[in-house]
Amino acid sequence: MRIVRTVAEMQRVCRGLRTGGSVLGFVPTMGALHEGHLSLVRRARSECDTVVASIFVNPLQFAPGEDFAKYPRTFEEDCRSLETEGAGVLFAPDAAEMYPNGSVTTVTVSEVGDRLDGASRPGHFTGVATVVAKLFHAVAPTRAYFGQKDAAQLAVLRQMVRDLNFDVELVGCAIVRDTDGLALSSRNKYISAIERRHALVLHRTLLQLERMIAEGERQSISLVRRGMDTLNAEPGIRVDYLAIVDANNLLPVTSAETGTLVAVAAYVGSTRLIDNFLVR
Ligand code: AMP
Repeated sequence: MRIVRTVAEMQRVCRGLRTGGSVLGFVPTMGALHEGHLSLVRRARSECDTVVASIFVNPLQFAPGEDFAKYPRTFEEDCRSLETEGAGVLFAPDAAEMYPNGSVTTVTVSEVGDRLDGASRPGHFTGVATVVAKLFHAVAPTRAYFGQKDAAQLAVLRQMVRDLNFDVELVGCAIVRDTDGLALSSRNKYISAIERRHALVLHRTLLQLERMIAEGERQSISLVRRGMDTLNAEPGIRVDYLAIVDANNLLPVTSAETGTLVAVAAYVGSTRLIDNFLVR
């Protein structure tokens, strides 16, 4: 696996691969890789000739006071995992390379970018859209792979790709969970064994709502009320949102239909966790 540190070299390497006929599949990450990330790499490998991954803890998407400084960084181990999964190129720039002195341009996806996590974390999706736009310009992949785990992020990036005519296909990939049901996240490293037990209420709530929908309850009001009852019965967490929304624009819908997004965010201690499912 070739490790590249600069945008200029990345563009040269990827141009060479494309000219040689390679279809590039891109997996952007912030590192601290787990099975969720690796499932994206595997999917990319199965659909593309060369997998390009990136590891960059993007300062622009963290607000002051969030966990940028303590975000887990496990670069050597990540490289070994990516190599094992068959990634061909790893882009691992530093912050000065991505945001050199004097860079002032950002990408803001209005409306959809201000909903759900965008409402709770103002400016977060501007940071995400800006870095992903820059990464797309460095790699120019045919396909880019993102987890459904970050459903709002996926909606924001789909909007950006449409609005700015990026020539890339975004592929949403299923959420990977631990055996106890907790969605894998680099931030799970922050939580204690007791907090983890509290955190399981997120998945339990989603399973309850999925069951209610399967049994015929479609009204968002009733679903949210029941879901909030379950969440509020767990004193170890603080709910940020439980929302039933259109998966494309993240606006609330009155009735949960096929493709509707049911999403939850909550704090366990100071750690913010998210989870969701798409109605079948
Ligand atoms: P991150 O390193 O947190 O920025 O995540 C990089 C990519 O991995 C994003 O597209 C995430 O949605 C995806 N991802 C993170 N956790 C999971 C998971 N549990 N299952 C599937 N994809 C995930």
